[in-house]
Amino acid sequence: LETEHHAADLPAPATSNVPISNRERVIFPESNITKGQLADHYAAVAEIMLPWVGSRPISLVRCPQGRAKKCFFQKHDAGSFGDKVHHVGVVEKNGHEEPYLYIDDADGLMTCVQMGTIEFHGWGARIEDVEKADRLVFDLDPDVGLDFEVVRSAAFQFRDILKSIGLETFPMVTGGKGVHVIAPLTPRAEWPEVKDFAHRLAQAVAQSDPEHFTAALPKAQRKGRIFVDYLRNQRGATAVMPYSARAREGAPVAAPITWKEMETIDTPAHFHIGDAAELMKRARSKALAGWGRADQTLPDL
Ligand code: ATP
Ligand code: MN
Ligand code: MN
Repeated sequence: LETEHHAADLPAPATSNVPISNRERVIFPESNITKGQLADHYAAVAEIMLPWVGSRPISLVRCPQGRAKKCFFQKHDAGSFGDKVHHVGVVEKNGHEEPYLYIDDADGLMTCVQMGTIEFHGWGARIEDVEKADRLVFDLDPDVGLDFEVVRSAAFQFRDILKSIGLETFPMVTGGKGVHVIAPLTPRAEWPEVKDFAHRLAQAVAQSDPEHFTAALPKAQRKGRIFVDYLRNQRGATAVMPYSARAREGAPVAAPITWKEMETIDTPAHFHIGDAAELMKRARSKALAGWGRADQTLPDL
């Protein structure tokens, strides 16, 4: 099966032999979901997840004792991941090169899960050139209590604005409170330019509709508004990867959706780790074929 040929637009099947220990350990106590069930989710979605999470620097949210206990955000290898999880050198601000983590197959993915990973976050750049962005992400963060209806219409506003300047976008529900509006990029522009573009666009939207949006960092200014988190687009920043589980109540999953579905979806935590079969089916559907793919570069702003 592993060498079977697939249509060019379908990812290759991905299977792993990495053993998962403590399958019965409860990781999501409020819903009694175990490490084994989490591992089954990742094993099932590996083939549709690897095209996104693979071959880019990643950060992991690890919660070895479950999501209710101590979790940590891990960017570098502490030396314990073995040979299925790889390193890519990234020069830090202090001039030193640090080994960032990346994976490129199901064994790498499952090794991270075995090590207590719940969430996978990725840079917006691939390991071939970490200085050039391969996506823009507008992370729409609603203030507490804001209706999802407001987030939904915000997502459409971003779609329309980006479309008007020549960028096709794709929506993802995060499994949390908001939505990511993602513009794939052919890797050309480097981080300073990409961040500047995202910042200016976010500011322009906030200025034109200050009732609904803010791009300001102080929390006080986010009251009742959607914070356009343009900082996802700076060097070293990460965003949750498609099909990653979230370390939140009920084990929701970040999931690509269509713009059509955005019209009616009721919550960004619509999908959960029990939905792997449905997520696989969706990923192979016509409606989601080509999701996240577009050959485009940053326009002038
Ligand atoms: P939500 O829809 O609930 O906002 P989200 O994934 O967008 O979900 P945010 O809090 O907006 O969550 O965070 C945006 C991104 O910032 C995350 O996807 C993650 O990649 C990154 N991030 C989150 N926590 C940390 C952290 N402790 N350190 C560094 N980056 C983080
Ligand atoms: Mn967010
Ligand atoms: Mn955010």
